[in-house]
Amino acid sequence: MTPGQRCCERVYSSSYPGHTCGNPAKMEHEGKPYCGIHDPVKRAAREAASKAKWDALWKAKTERWAEEKKLEERRTACELACQGVETHDLAPGILLRYMRGI
Ligand SMILES: [Zn+2]
Repeated sequence: MTPGQRCCERVYSSSYPGHTCGNPAKMEHEGKPYCGIHDPVKRAAREAASKAKWDALWKAKTERWAEEKKLEERRTACELACQGVETHDLAPGILLRYMRGI
């Protein structure tokens, strides 16, 4: 890398064609100069960390939804049992019809 080189990354902010980043280059990747922000290796690591974070959040959400659905089914089964609905009618598939009001 030669001194004074600038980052070659194309930045798309408010203008359509975008512009070259132009920050002082700190490293070279596959023969091209990049600044610290656009360093492809660091960037890939940041993106992987971000994806892992969102994947964990999504997993927690889907688990919570599944748990809430189970609780809702149990609540509905209890209410229906109190209304005298037969136990065999409270099986999950049949219970779902009651929950949907069919
Ligand atoms: Zn840059």
